[in-house]
Amino acid sequence: MLVVKKFGGTSVADKERIFNVARRCIEEYQKGNDVVVVLSAMGKYTDELITMAKDINELPPKREMDMLFTIGEQMSVALMAMAMNKLGVPAISLNAFQVAMHSTSVYGNARLKRIDTERIRHELEQRKIVIVTGFQGINKYDDYTTLGRGGSDTTAVALAAALHADACEIYTDVDGVYTADPRKVKTARKLDAVTYDEMLELATLGAGVLHNRSVELAKKYGVQLVVRSSLNTSEGTIVKEGAKMEKMLVSGVAGDIDTARVAVVGLKDEPGVAFKLFNALAKHNINVDMILQSIGRKGTKDISFTTSDENADEAAKIINENFNNFESVEVDKKVAKVSIVGAGMQTNAGVAAKMFEALYDANINIRMISTSEIRVTVLIDEANTERAMNAIHDKFDLGNK
Ligand code: ASP
Ligand code: MG
Repeated sequence: MLVVKKFGGTSVADKERIFNVARRCIEEYQKGNDVVVVLSAMGKYTDELITMAKDINELPPKREMDMLFTIGEQMSVALMAMAMNKLGVPAISLNAFQVAMHSTSVYGNARLKRIDTERIRHELEQRKIVIVTGFQGINKYDDYTTLGRGGSDTTAVALAAALHADACEIYTDVDGVYTADPRKVKTARKLDAVTYDEMLELATLGAGVLHNRSVELAKKYGVQLVVRSSLNTSEGTIVKEGAKMEKMLVSGVAGDIDTARVAVVGLKDEPGVAFKLFNALAKHNINVDMILQSIGRKGTKDISFTTSDENADEAAKIINENFNNFESVEVDKKVAKVSIVGAGMQTNAGVAAKMFEALYDANINIRMISTSEIRVTVLIDEANTERAMNAIHDKFDLGNK
């Protein structure tokens, strides 16, 4: 059996935890299995690298950021190999070049295209544990790229797919996927299983457990994932197709405060306005999420959309620089998205209304609404995020099976 195990930054934050991970991997290895380990940078090291970079240059070239980022993962894989060797088990660390993990060219947000498996297979045949750097790739210019924050999950899934692994386990500092972030909702409960689509919505909505692209990849290649804790041996949550949903309409509530609303006010009301606006943003790689267009008045209309806090100012700048057919652009970062997700809701009316009722009871105003087949999202004031999550969680009684 071939197992891919991925451990996040908190799981390898210090010497003790590195040895803890080393032992868990060795246990698997000693069952006779092939073990491929994917690691993130230790603790908050990636954040520290950003701080260091910004201290030198507030707008560092993205290529150089990736060059810098890759040392974080490289450090943890090398130390892990040393720990395993110390425990008497042969192990080898490999970075994106050594494996050859080919990605697209975009620095800071690359996608993996192809992974050469030869080197890894060769090392596994020598009965070594193979430890691979998460989060990084190489592009056609032979430069390092990174896959976006949290991208190590995606590395693990891509490796599992490329190696046809029998299991892909994502170890983190929580026990699995919860009905809501347990730090924000006290009654949150761990789910035994979620579908890819539910996980995808939760990941995109900032549930913070898995990188969203890792779930996309897992779905595409049918890689069954297990999300579990590196600190204990509890079962975790399985992410797979058509997982039995405990007959629940809604499986989780997510909140995302990394959201900003950009409003373009007094836009000329004529064909092509939305196209030109969002096309300009897309060209600058700005992802927009919810979009709202007001009913026109006096030949003008307003278009509001949400994007990440980080992208909001840049979006406003792009609009100001490229267009002159509007009155003003307003950025509001003090907003948050709160969403309910559930595969069961597509066949059930009234789920959205119940969510709105929970917010009404809590006297929380809704500023924007968007829906998909298995999700309802509202935009509210950031200060109300936790209150809203709790109100909705209670309304749907998610704390009880
Ligand atoms: N170290 C990277 C980050 O902090 C990648 C990861 O943790 O998955 O974003
Ligand atoms: Mg992560």
